[in-house]
Amino acid sequence: MTDTHCPYCSLQCGMTLSRKGPRLEVGVRAQRNQHSPEDEGALCRKGWTAAGLRGSRERLTTPMVRDRATGEWSAVEWDEALDLVASRLADLRVDHGADANAVFGGGGLTNEKAYQLGKFARVALGTSQIDYNGRWCMSSAASAGNQAFGVDRGLPFPLADIEQTDVCVLVGSNLAETMPPAARHLDRLRENGGKVVVIDPRLTPTGERADLFLQPVPGTDLPLALGVLHLLDAAGAVDEDYIAERTTGFQDVRRSVAAWWPEMVERVSGVEAAQLRELASLLVNAEKVMVLTARGAEQHAQGTATVLAWLNVALALGMPGRPYAGYGCLTGQGNGQGGREHGQKADQLPGYRMIDDPAARAHVAEVWGIDPASIPGKGRSAYELLDALGTEDGPKSLLVFGSNIVVSAPNATHVADRLAALDLLVVADMVMSETAALADVVLPVTQWAEETGTMTNLEGRVILRQAAVTPPDGVRSDLDVIAGLATRLEARAGIRRDESAGYSSVDRQERPVVSGGPLWSTDPEEIFTELRAATKGGKADYSGITYARIREEDGVFWPCPEGSEGTPRLFADTFFHADGRARFVDVTHSGPAEEPSAAYPLHLTTGRVLAQYQSGAQTRRIKDLPDGGIFVELHPLVADRVGAHDGDPVVVRTPRGDLKAPARVVTTIRPDTIFVPFHWVGANRLTNDALDPSSRMPEFKVCAAAVSA
Ligand code: SF4
Repeated sequence: MTDTHCPYCSLQCGMTLSRKGPRLEVGVRAQRNQHSPEDEGALCRKGWTAAGLRGSRERLTTPMVRDRATGEWSAVEWDEALDLVASRLADLRVDHGADANAVFGGGGLTNEKAYQLGKFARVALGTSQIDYNGRWCMSSAASAGNQAFGVDRGLPFPLADIEQTDVCVLVGSNLAETMPPAARHLDRLRENGGKVVVIDPRLTPTGERADLFLQPVPGTDLPLALGVLHLLDAAGAVDEDYIAERTTGFQDVRRSVAAWWPEMVERVSGVEAAQLRELASLLVNAEKVMVLTARGAEQHAQGTATVLAWLNVALALGMPGRPYAGYGCLTGQGNGQGGREHGQKADQLPGYRMIDDPAARAHVAEVWGIDPASIPGKGRSAYELLDALGTEDGPKSLLVFGSNIVVSAPNATHVADRLAALDLLVVADMVMSETAALADVVLPVTQWAEETGTMTNLEGRVILRQAAVTPPDGVRSDLDVIAGLATRLEARAGIRRDESAGYSSVDRQERPVVSGGPLWSTDPEEIFTELRAATKGGKADYSGITYARIREEDGVFWPCPEGSEGTPRLFADTFFHADGRARFVDVTHSGPAEEPSAAYPLHLTTGRVLAQYQSGAQTRRIKDLPDGGIFVELHPLVADRVGAHDGDPVVVRTPRGDLKAPARVVTTIRPDTIFVPFHWVGANRLTNDALDPSSRMPEFKVCAAAVSA
């Protein structure tokens, strides 16, 4: 029996895996929890069926190369595949410069893989062109957290703290469907006498649990927050002492929210002024308030501003740093948190260090044993990177790890065109995903139960996913692929490995002798040891965390410098800015990038369903999970207007494309809004690629659309 964690979402539920003959059985494992030590553990149906992907007939077990002229695939040996890829990458670098090669990672990769991928891009390829799909997940909350608190850790407290707050406000979160075991904390909060507020354009199973449910027009969570703060200030409910002692910038925010009286907010958001007053009244009378945002609030071209507006509410009430109160982001992907801390983001180095910070570059360069000047600068963000592929100034190759871009990227038809314009597309995946099917080379890699590595869950708790079975013959880990390519690239560049020292050494003037740890290890624990050194002294300091500690303590919260117990709760005494104060940031509402028009009279929003995860590359292949396919959720008033009945095919059009799918007629959605889940091909052909100016988050959650029968 092996103790491990679920392969999917950021809750990273504990599970046990045991072998029954050729089958792998999943069991629940209670996780020790900072607040609920007797927590019984739980899984959702995705977790229970996770072993279903093992033994799938669709599993890839040999590298494949596609002939572009004929479109035919050929199975090849690993050496042949890696030699081919490395030589093409090296040639592209010679012909077009280092930034001709690009790398795209994923928020589901382990910390070790994310770390190694960032190092591979900067050291082996010398490219600045690396980013990952987590940019499309929590980046607006990350940007807001960094601006307000000086640090970005999704939840600055353990999840179970929800049970002890007085009022929990969920903005754009459907956790009862996306991470069902987490909903127990809302239930217990209500049993304890607390209140749950849910803000969402759709009445979801989470909204059904709410004491107060607000249903705004998509893209108007920001003016709601401005209106709430207006009412709190008018009621004299802001915490003046906290604001004076622990923050800066409130007076500008106070002036700007003065213009957002409730009737003004109602006109913009569609939420009745009386409901807004009811929410403000709940907050005025609460000692402990928790504001939690998720993708509904964040995946907008004004996502960062929206999160900042809600952070302003939490700060004005004096909540961040108070026990069982504050602001947090409910991260989505399994390693959405750790994936953005260790260097696969275009502007970051390990430890949440910024790539343009000279001290950060010097520290990481020393660990890597290279000249700091050889680390490239900041690259393009995820969508901008894809948008540049195959253009004159853009990358000519792309290596994809842990991502199914053509399903998950906004404006996906355009993205598929950009992939087709590349000289070389390489995808490492375990199945022939929609993106892999477009590649020149596909490399078959291990999946979760076949490999060990750490993940950082939505609480900032570093946990250990342990291997339970050996991978099928022919399959290698992402770490093997990275090492295989890196050593081939080094060989071509004249870099010699000093085997006696166990380290790589470099004999070229511009890349001095390596003095750090083993450059291209394939052992996760060895890579984690190097990661610890690279993060030492950074905001996300993992230097005191070891595999042994994680096993003993069932996870360790960062920051955890050497000798530290870890930090389950942040901000009790100080924030992470140099002066120790949090920042109010004055934000304004500009509205969605694309408003409804005569041709496109509705709002389209997208999201998840209970039985599927992300692009569905894994969950759509598990036969025990219901897969009813894509659908269009619409209100009966819209259905009547277009002459559609429940189950009828309808066509959704946006300026970027169209989609035909069965109608699902429900009264739980606003009559001016339609909803499409994004786990299947099609939804993101519709979505808008307008980007948030700070986080570079695309506007997945709202665009203008038309529907017809
Ligand atoms: S809630 Fe998330 S982590 Fe837990 S079993 Fe479901 S998918 Fe897995």
